[in-house]
Amino acid sequence: MTAARKGTLIAGDGIGPEVVSAAVRVLEATGIVIDWDAQMAGAMAIAKEGTPLPEKTLESIRTHGLALKGPTTTPVGGGHTSINVALRKALDLYANVRPIKSLPGVKTRYENVDLVVIRENTEDLYSGLEHVVVPGVVESIKVITEKASTRIAKFAFAYARANGRKRVTAVHKANIMKLSDGLFLDCCAKVAKDFPDIKYDDIIVDNCCMQLVLDPTRFDMLLLENLYGDIVSDLCAGLIGGLGLAPGANVGEKGATFEAVHGSAPDIAGKNIANPIALILSAAMLLDYIGENAAGNRVREAVLSVLKDGKVMPRDLGGTASTTAVAEAIAERVAS
Ligand code: ATP
Repeated sequence: MTAARKGTLIAGDGIGPEVVSAAVRVLEATGIVIDWDAQMAGAMAIAKEGTPLPEKTLESIRTHGLALKGPTTTPVGGGHTSINVALRKALDLYANVRPIKSLPGVKTRYENVDLVVIRENTEDLYSGLEHVVVPGVVESIKVITEKASTRIAKFAFAYARANGRKRVTAVHKANIMKLSDGLFLDCCAKVAKDFPDIKYDDIIVDNCCMQLVLDPTRFDMLLLENLYGDIVSDLCAGLIGGLGLAPGANVGEKGATFEAVHGSAPDIAGKNIANPIALILSAAMLLDYIGENAAGNRVREAVLSVLKDGKVMPRDLGGTASTTAVAEAIAERVAS
């Protein structure tokens, strides 16, 4: 008998513990055994360990190379810096992968949306380099490097090739940020030459947002720097019915963490009403990552089947089902 695969489990803040238990329930229903090492990050870690991201949490992910993570709250303005940003940097999880696909039974203005957002995860305005120049004047420094831009572009094109995607569109504002976005764009164009089988083009970020709202089906894969990637991902989640449905992965050379696009949603935390589907679909991506694609497909099919059926619908999609009821319905279909 082979030993069970090990992974780090981070419940996180707000709706985190609720959606993480829901995703674990569905993973268990696949029969794939993952031996979870539960670790803290976020508010509970501050209370118990005095830091939002304890070293033993990082060490656990480094050891297992795999984590399923609930959202953690990032205070606005002051307070601690983002745990997600710290985690992605510490473990060099440089590629954020966010598939955006229309789902049956979900009322939206759009049909047949099928996009993948690839977001650079380690630099840009997320470098955390901010300072007060003189009172009333601050600077936040945008860092773009040739190395990170080339690396994320290679990742995007390799992903396109491996997943049957046809076109990569780089998104930028190089007409204004001629140096930083100009460098990003140059790197993307250079890498594109090594992938003649994948079409390549680019678009200015504001136009991209408008085109996405007019007709999201005109795009295939979007390749973005960190900040544009964050904003455009939420826009894309809105195209398919909201944050409750958008999964994600942070991938590096030595491991990956899987988490939904959404945040900790404190407004609905602790009420058993959050939509767990985004994290359940992230768990399906985790199964693909560990080579259990058949199980990953079963999870995705179970989600589609529950949504199509329409009997057990979460609140954000106009239904009345609780987080646990949605998870149970999906888990039952996975197991059947
Ligand atoms: P962050 O900056 O940490 O990404 P955010 O400010 O984007 O967080 P979220 O926590 O993602 O905010 O919440 C945005 C809105 O979406 C809130 O009204 C929240 O209730 C809703 N929301 C987020 N996730 C879910 C979910 N899984 N189910 C239902 N509603 C959700």
